[in-house]
Amino acid sequence: MKWITTNGCMVHQIIKGRSNSYLVMDNNISILVDTGMEKSRKELIEKLDDFLGEKRLSYLVLTHAHYDHVGNAATVKKRYDTKIIIQKKELEYLREGASQVPSGTNFITHILVALAGRISKFSEYEKVQADFLVDDEYILSPNCYLMHTPGHTDGSMSLIVDGEVALVGDAMFGVFNWSVFPPFADDVPTMIKSWRKLLKTGCHSFLPGHGTKNSRELLKKQYDKYKKRYMD
Ligand SMILES: [Zn+2]
Repeated sequence: MKWITTNGCMVHQIIKGRSNSYLVMDNNISILVDTGMEKSRKELIEKLDDFLGEKRLSYLVLTHAHYDHVGNAATVKKRYDTKIIIQKKELEYLREGASQVPSGTNFITHILVALAGRISKFSEYEKVQADFLVDDEYILSPNCYLMHTPGHTDGSMSLIVDGEVALVGDAMFGVFNWSVFPPFADDVPTMIKSWRKLLKTGCHSFLPGHGTKNSRELLKKQYDKYKKRYMD
């Protein structure tokens, strides 16, 4: 899959399946968003080599420090000699190679979390050092900026491409075509506020860490539904 914005930014979906990874090209700046799980390393590297050719990878943006998004962060940093960017509240996890298991938002995921414990062996990954930390917003390239969109985790963030396409990590899920609500979130009301922030960017497409694109219409519908339940 590929998206092209008015100002010529390109968003390629590099890997999909259990976790998505996207490569954004803005002029000569290349930005990889998330790296998937360790087991998709070979596929990730092959695709990245293909897409980049002689170009270098300018940045690796991590939407949050969960093992299924940062499983290959250390490898990518080494292989492409790139800079890692993460929101400051996620820094400690990345440094330790640990994921904090977030709270379940439904009956089943609630029980899963209770069984797994908050820090589980299964969610470890190769630790790595970040190079830049984001607070609230950070302009990354002529047409792209990062925005703090907490809720799924404290330090979750999104990349806004040309005010048209948002790469949102797990602030939303794209697994069901009637819902964007993720099965795990630490702070649901905060996540709903982040949806409002994301709607304000004007983007028409919201690309999640899992599943496929969410439309602005679906997000707006879900925001209107859940803000009543969690924010009023
Ligand atoms: Zn996550």
